This record gives sequence, structure tokens and C-alpha cells, in this order.
Amino acid sequence: MADKFLKVEVEQPANAKLPKRVSYSQMALFQQCGLKYFFSYIDNWREPPTAALAGGSITHDVIERLYRLPSEQRTLPAAIEILREYGPKFLQQSEYLKFADDLKMKHSVREAVENLFALETPTELVVQPEHLEMELNIEINGVNFFGKVDRFTQDGINRVTDYKTGKSPGKFVDDKLAQPYLYALAYKEQYDIDVDEVELIFLNAKEVVRRPADWGLVTKVGESLAVMRAESEASISNSAWDAKVSKLCDYCAFSQVCPARNPETTIPGGTDCDTKLASAGLLHK
Ligand code: SF4
Repeated sequence: MADKFLKVEVEQPANAKLPKRVSYSQMALFQQCGLKYFFSYIDNWREPPTAALAGGSITHDVIERLYRLPSEQRTLPAAIEILREYGPKFLQQSEYLKFADDLKMKHSVREAVENLFALETPTELVVQPEHLEMELNIEINGVNFFGKVDRFTQDGINRVTDYKTGKSPGKFVDDKLAQPYLYALAYKEQYDIDVDEVELIFLNAKEVVRRPADWGLVTKVGESLAVMRAESEASISNSAWDAKVSKLCDYCAFSQVCPARNPETTIPGGTDCDTKLASAGLLHK
């Protein structure tokens, strides 16, 4: 299906504002569909957590804790021990309790943790504790950008690494690289560090993708960030957002209240729309 665009007028909250800071996820969501961005960041709806989100969060937590250990202690049994200790604690949080008996999710987390050891040798990786889950907070091209980097390593090569759970990216791998490229730009702006390489580790898919931090591509992602912000400013001031109809609409939680998918539906952001989203189980932030 070719992508189609439709400008959709919305009913915005009286004091509607764009988020002060923009993350990579916000940018990617806006690029996917402006109207979906409106529902998520202006009208403040969110989907209830999924098993995939729970599994991804546990996996990230286990790997971070593993790399905080002294290098010689970063073994697979140690990682499994961390998983046994912290996985159940994570699932005790009220919104994740429903996944406490989800064996498929648990199997996927265990697989991701085991695969880490097939993809790299944690005992040999040189990483400083302050370079794990490292926060970036810097103005890029006039936009307040923030991000949290899974891992930054300096072993002769300055490398930004992001772990991914779930499926192989296949032909969409270049789209996924936009995230570490943007982080590379933020390292330059915030710390004057030249990132040499970006890396994505697809744990469940057992794939590692490394690319040089090509400055042309890095700069381009920074420009996209500024374009995204300018377009979202225009959308909020006109109370009209671009709906982008694509295959991804089939997975969109706002599909039933989206005029681009259901021309008969009521105005996004209105009371009827809110009622429908609430009864579909979405949560107001
Ligand atoms: S259904 Fe499609 S067009 Fe509508 S908000 Fe969702 S992603 Fe955008």
C-alpha cells in the first residue's frame, strides 16, 4: 500500500503544548504519522504495556546490571542470576503484573540474555559504569534533544551501542540506525566526542549491525530532528495534523478514532473520541 497523507483537524486541549524536549522515539513517531504523535504527545494517550515492552525492559535491565559488574564476573550464570533476581521484581509493578505468568515472554528474555554471550564476550568488553544508560541532553539545530544511550565504549574506537529485542530488522535496518546516528551527533554537541562507529545488537535475532558514524548521515538525522520540530510546531498552531496512512495503521491503537481510516468517526481529541479510547483500554497520561 502506498502511503497517503490526510490533514486532520483536531480538538486540542486548551493549553496544548509540544513537549519541551524531543527524544528519538518522539521524532520516529512523528515521522511515522503526525496524527499518531498528536494522540500520544499532545492528547496524552498511551497504550497499556505489552508483553514485548515488559520483556524488552527486563532484558535491558539485566544487561545493564551485568555490565556494572567487574569484568571477570560478567558470566552467563551471573546474568541468569541477575535475571532470576530482578525479573520477578520488575513484574511485581502493578501495570506489569499481568505478565507474571507469561512463559513466552520469559523464554524470549532468557534467549536474549543467552544470545548476548554468543554475540560478544562480556568479560572482555571495556566499559565505564558512567557510560551505561548515559543521558544526553543538548540543543541540536535549535531543538532540545534528550536521549539515554544503552552503552558507550572507548576501546580505541568510540562506539555507541543500542540493544534491541524482538525480530530482525531485515530491510529496515537503515531506518533503525537513525537512532544511534542521532546519539553520535549529541555526543559531538554535548561532549565534543567524535563517535567513530554505531552499533545495534539485535539480541533475539542474534545479529550485530555496525556502521561507521558517517558524518553526512549523522548530520542528516540532525536536520530531520529540526524539520520534525518545525512541522510539529506548525501542526499544533493550526490544530491540524498529518495522518499518514500506511501498512502500520493495522497496528495503530488509534485506528478506530482516526478519520483517515474511519471517515465517519468524530473529531480527534473530542469527548466522543476520548470515550472510545478509554473503553478500548488506552490510558491517559
Ligand atoms: S491509523 Fe494510521 S493514519 Fe491513523 S493515526 Fe494511526 S498511524 Fe496515523
